[in-house]
Amino acid sequence: MGKPTREEAEAAVRVLIRWAGDDPQREGLLDTPGRVVRSYEEFFAGYAIDPADLLQRTFSEVDGYDEMVVLKDIRFESYCEHHMVPIIGKAHIAYLPDRRVVGLSKLARLVDAFAKRLQIQEKMTVQIADMLDATLNPKGVAVILEASHQCMSTRGVHKAGASMVTSRMLGAFREDASTRREFLAIIGQSTGIHVPQA
Ligand SMILES: [Zn+2]
Repeated sequence: MGKPTREEAEAAVRVLIRWAGDDPQREGLLDTPGRVVRSYEEFFAGYAIDPADLLQRTFSEVDGYDEMVVLKDIRFESYCEHHMVPIIGKAHIAYLPDRRVVGLSKLARLVDAFAKRLQIQEKMTVQIADMLDATLNPKGVAVILEASHQCMSTRGVHKAGASMVTSRMLGAFREDASTRREFLAIIGQSTGIHVPQA
């Protein structure tokens, strides 16, 4: 399955404009296919990123720091793989280091690497958690995503304002209730969300 050319992609957008009921030749729409195709390069930039590679540079000298590392409220924009419309939300990530830590910006870029693809929220949650687990070998990983799905707010049942919460807890976050509570308390201050015990 080769990648189509830019011209082929723009032609496909003209077909969708006609499908919507408009005329791709009218003046206001002439440059639209080019813009849409360039937007797609941004929306789906995650396919060009190797998430494992992103986390390769870890810092192993952390002077015995073994407390929880938490990055909360990481905004992401993803795209529902069923309808190709946006999923917009926040990710909260924590891990309990075992000698190896990674720069915080790498955690944010990890979220983008998986978000900027056609996704389902459950799968993205697992992908982020499992990648961190595999590359850092920490004592535990916790990932919570909360997001609203435009396929639910702008079509179908039209329920705006509903958000979906998914989580994956590994290692200490799964086995130790106090570790999990500490994480939920830290992120709960900003989100007010309640996550069922794993
Ligand atoms: Zn959808």
